[in-house]
Amino acid sequence: MSDKKILDLYQNCNLCPRNCNVNRKEKRGFCLESDQVSIDAALLHFGEEPPISFKNGSGTIFFTGCSLRCPFCQNMQISQNPRNKKIYNLEQFIDIIITLIKKNAENINFVTPDHFLPHIIEAIKYIKKMGYDIPFIYNCSGYQSVYNLELSIPYIDIYLFDYKFANKEASLYCLKNEEYPKIALEGLKFIYKNKGNLTLKNGKAIKGTLVRHLVMPNFIENSIEVINNLYFTFGNTIFLSVMSQYTPTFLKKGFEKINRKITKKEYETVIDLIKNLSFKNVYLQEYIEGDDRYIPDFDRKNMFDEW
Ligand code: SF4
Repeated sequence: MSDKKILDLYQNCNLCPRNCNVNRKEKRGFCLESDQVSIDAALLHFGEEPPISFKNGSGTIFFTGCSLRCPFCQNMQISQNPRNKKIYNLEQFIDIIITLIKKNAENINFVTPDHFLPHIIEAIKYIKKMGYDIPFIYNCSGYQSVYNLELSIPYIDIYLFDYKFANKEASLYCLKNEEYPKIALEGLKFIYKNKGNLTLKNGKAIKGTLVRHLVMPNFIENSIEVINNLYFTFGNTIFLSVMSQYTPTFLKKGFEKINRKITKKEYETVIDLIKNLSFKNVYLQEYIEGDDRYIPDFDRKNMFDEW
């Protein structure tokens, strides 16, 4: 696809499974974003998995808007209620990436990238032409169209791919969307087939797929289904990151079942299954009661308490 055609994709936007088919120059679709790149924060992130943050931090770019819009989103301040939107043109977006590279970022980590993929592709092409050699990361919700993923494949090195729900009822309750389980698994299979498992060089991630799963309160059966699906689809060598950080800080009304943090027992049930299935490449967040260190606050200068 030519350069012009890639940016033209905003004119009839079908970049995610919502398939809004709107012209984003004039109208917003479900993601609430126009055809201009909107970024809330760009920083070196030291709280990603060890091979992603590695030594110097992951050069993380937080886009505003989202095509999934989870009612419990930990990035709610920017994903669904963007305040003081900061819009950048392509040149400025490229400058942001180069600034992170010059700060010695280990990689460039695009968070919630699907609705801005055309700009991401343009920026990566330019940066590669300039001779920079750095892994690019597509850090996504899992609610991805294969069409979008296929477009991204030639440019992206690493996929941090959420697999939030495998169970239809859980997905319907927590996301008001029962298609997510099917769509996420299809997307994951596609990425794994094209990019393979995560590959490390001297401990640093350089390419491949890392699956992330956030354990939700009262939906442990869903987590069990997620782990089983991964095991039976990809085997026990797939890189897996399991998170205990669920915090209902921004939870919308009407989701009482998920209006608490997970218990230690719930988390241990999931970990026991992972151990029983002998997963080889697993990153586990430690369970610490009341621990909020992974939850960003986009209203603060230092978004993360710990880093
Ligand atoms: S990226 Fe946004 S506008 Fe495009 S299809 Fe998805 S939700 Fe709709």
